[in-house]
Amino acid sequence: MTYCDLHMHSTASDGTDAPAALAGLAADAGLGAIALTDHDTTAGLEACAAACRARGIAFCPGIEISADRHAPQLAHPGPSVEPGRGALHILGLFIRADDPDLLEIARQLVAARDERNPRIIAKLHDLGVRLTLEEVQAAAAEQTQGHRIIGRPHIAQVMVRKGYAKTIQDAFSRYLGSGKPAYVRKDRLPPAEAITAIHKAGGLAILAHPIQLRCADADDLAYVLTRLKDAGLDGMEVLHCEHTPADAQRFAAAARQLGLLASGGSDYHGANKTVILGSQHVPISIFEDLQRAWRAQSNISQARD
Ligand code: AMP
Ligand code: ZN
Ligand code: FE
Ligand code: FE
Repeated sequence: MTYCDLHMHSTASDGTDAPAALAGLAADAGLGAIALTDHDTTAGLEACAAACRARGIAFCPGIEISADRHAPQLAHPGPSVEPGRGALHILGLFIRADDPDLLEIARQLVAARDERNPRIIAKLHDLGVRLTLEEVQAAAAEQTQGHRIIGRPHIAQVMVRKGYAKTIQDAFSRYLGSGKPAYVRKDRLPPAEAITAIHKAGGLAILAHPIQLRCADADDLAYVLTRLKDAGLDGMEVLHCEHTPADAQRFAAAARQLGLLASGGSDYHGANKTVILGSQHVPISIFEDLQRAWRAQSNISQARD
């Protein structure tokens, strides 16, 4: 069986492997197709595509956009997620990397990060964790090749280096994670806007790691998925490193029921996480089905133009 991995990060955002290096790792893992899905940037796509081409690996250009989990249209009337908990990330797969509207949204999301990072550092300072924005920028710059995506993993790296946390995970568990004392919310797109932007850039909109929605129960999950589908969502991740086999089964059933495509990936971040590339054993047929749906959708939109 051939496998694929349709969710991973490079040094263009908060992974630790260069975009081109991912192709080598994918080849070593025996993968037939990969998608690069950096947060808020398409900067790594060209290099990764070229490296995949050279190795005969099918490449899917992607992006991961954080949307507002607490958008009013997702508020289920029954038991639901606590404020500040739950994340709603949307992957764009098969996007055009140079779409001007998508690039503008990415620019705004990076601006929201620039606004948030000093506030996290100020909170850490009040908690006795002394690090500077310059140190975090330097840590990110070593890796992001000047692409300027600074995320919490970069802050966590500096905390580990300066002895404030044992590991990156430890920094998240005690300080940086959602609901922890140095957590700061960042401005996020309403989900419908993220989905529309992905569609305008020619891509499929796929809900990443539905486990992170932290839905209260099956009813709440069905409600949120239905609202997202109404907004144009094409599919959802069934396989992901944070899903247990039972989660994968229940998400696969929900996807089938709602007519959503299934996707899957490891969410590999190199040394910033303990996840292994290709570890989700996503069958290549998942990639092929997504590609078929994308081609059908592109044909429809071309016919419309
Ligand atoms: P940010 O984009 O700055 O909000 O950071 C989000 C990223 O932080 C995620 O994509 C993960 O890479 C990482 N992250 C989030 N929660 C954790 C956690 N509990 N442990 C390790 N990494 C995490
Ligand atoms: Zn990340
Ligand atoms: Fe995510
Ligand atoms: Fe991710």
